[in-house]
Order: sequence, then structure tokens, then C-alpha cells
Amino acid sequence: MKIREIHIYAHDLPVKNPPRVMSSGTVWSLDTTLVRIVSDDGLEGWGETCPVGSTYAESFAGGARAALIEMAPGLIGTELWPVSLHRKMDSLLNGHHYAKAAIDIAAHDLIGKKLGVRVSELLGGALTENVPTYYSTGVGDPDEIAKIAKERVKEGYPRIQIKLGGRSVEADIETLHKVWEVVRGSGVRLAADGNRGWNTRDVIRLSRECSAIPFILEQPCNTIEELSVLRQVVNHPIYMDENGINLSTVITAAGTGLVDGFGMKVTRIGGLHQMRTFRDICSARNLPHTSDDAWGGDIIAAACVHLGSTVRPDLNEGAWIASPYIEGHYDEAAGLKIQNGHIPLPKGPGLGVIPDKEQFGNPVASY
Ligand SMILES: [Mg+2]
Repeated sequence: MKIREIHIYAHDLPVKNPPRVMSSGTVWSLDTTLVRIVSDDGLEGWGETCPVGSTYAESFAGGARAALIEMAPGLIGTELWPVSLHRKMDSLLNGHHYAKAAIDIAAHDLIGKKLGVRVSELLGGALTENVPTYYSTGVGDPDEIAKIAKERVKEGYPRIQIKLGGRSVEADIETLHKVWEVVRGSGVRLAADGNRGWNTRDVIRLSRECSAIPFILEQPCNTIEELSVLRQVVNHPIYMDENGINLSTVITAAGTGLVDGFGMKVTRIGGLHQMRTFRDICSARNLPHTSDDAWGGDIIAAACVHLGSTVRPDLNEGAWIASPYIEGHYDEAAGLKIQNGHIPLPKGPGLGVIPDKEQFGNPVASY
């Protein structure tokens, strides 16, 4: 099963009720990149990668497309099976996991369609048809965030992630207290996500002043060195998100007990092939984790949810998808939707999502 054609599309994803505020910046719309691969037997598979602007991670939309254009001519004729595909991509370009992930997702979609099985089966088999998700608030007014958290708990979300950072630590502390007042006793799990936006001084204070609130601290500071400092002095569990850029970092963080869990993103680590290894490393060390991506449309969402369906239930912190924050779907019938804090796993072969490619216009490049 070889690659016959690669088509690369740029697409603007409109954000609902813009803007969305995070410590790393403000988002009005998302520039996403889609890849359509055609195999030598004429089947099609879709992949996607969608960096959030240009300052959230070491990636941006123009970079994704440049990297895909760099690799695509050399990928024509390559086997689609993930081991040979990743070896070939690595021989054509160093790094740029987020671009390689789009090819990886398209290959999984295509292999699933060819074999008549879902991507979740390719990843080892779904353990649930109803994948848990979590709600992620923006950074906002403490009363407003508490109101949102209360509503989402009522809707059935098993976990709420409060976005914090990029402002006074007093406002973050007040937000966590107000949220806890309204969700206490509900059984909901809480994450306090600094998105790298705090320094260790402020995290130490925040952890101390919220010592009775059972949240995990998600990627509070920018560097692994800062996480190591915090590890010694705060009582709250620490999860790594943005620093988890490859499997080597994950092995060290899990193996040395640096963190208690991970927020992990399919495109950051290089695709579903790496993600299944990540999942199994976490299982070996009993570390909870998410199965996310930063943003993106139905293709990325489907990839996250298929992987999320295969995570050991006691370690599953949920598959986050951007669909509640985005207008419309690529596939109106099978686009990913959240129901009562969970996401039904798509039924069709491959990713189970067939995008309406008219939405994307002409490809920016075809090979
Ligand atoms: Mg995070």
C-alpha cells in the first residue's frame, strides 16, 4: 500500500464567540492545514495539523505547510505502514513532528479504510464507545469561570480544566477558590493549567493558598528545570503538557518521577504511531494522561478520540476536542460532537469522518 498522491490544503477555522484567551495569546480564528493522501489503489485518507497561532508552541501554520511541501515529493511511492512511513519522513526532514503528524493521521485513516476497521482498532482496540472529554475554560473573570464550571459539571463533564496565568496570581487563586465553591462534592476532577505562564514563585504561592483544593497543576512553568524545582516544594500533583515534545522527554519524565501525569497532543509528539507508544509508557508507570490536540477540526478531533478510546479507563483524563469552540464541521453527519461530557466514537472505517473537500478550496500544493 503505497502513497500515490499528496494534496495539502489551508483552511481558516472560525472560533465561536471570539476571542478565546490563553496565557500565550488571544485566538480569533485558526489557520489549519489538511492533508489528503491517495494510495496506489485509489483510496483516500485525511490528516490535519493546527498550531494555535505562532506563540503557543514551537510551530505555526506556515511552518507546517512548508515542512509538508519539503517532504511530500520524497513521500510519493512510500509504504503507508507507520514504521516505514516515519522512517522515510525522518530521512527527509529532521524534527517538525507537527507536520509529520498530519501525514501519520492520513496514513492511519487510509489503512483503516483499506482493512475495513476503525483507527481505534489499529491502535489496539477501543475500550469504550463513549470517550470521556474535559471542558477547558479560557482565562477569565473568577465569577464568570466559576459559573461556566458549574454549568459544565451539570452537563456531565467528568473533568474541568481551568486556564490560568498571564495575569496577577491573585486573580488565579481567586478563580480556583470560586470554582471549588461551586463544584465541590460533584466528583469532578480539576486541572489548573498555567500553559507555561507562571514563574515558580507564583506557583508556590498558588499551591499554598489553594492547599485544600484537589487540582492537578498542568504545565505551570515554561521549562523542565522549573518543573523539577516545583516538584520538591508543592503538594499538588504536576502534569507535563507543552514540555512533552517527544518520546525521549516522556521516558525521562515518567522514569524519574518528575511528573504525575501528562497532557499529551497527537501532533506535538508526531502522530498516532508515537501516541500509542506514549500511551503504553504511561500505562507501565500508572500515569494518567489526556489524548488531545491544541486545536483543529474534525480530522484531528477524530484522531484524538480514537486514541482516547484505547486508554486504560483508570488513567484516562479525556480526549479534548476543539469542536465546542469552532463553527461548523467538515462532515456534517459524522463530525465529532460532545454529549454529556463524552464523545461518541465515530462508527465508520478509518477515522470515520469524510470531509467535504469543497470547504477547503483548491490545494495549496499537490504531488
Ligand atoms: Mg495544557
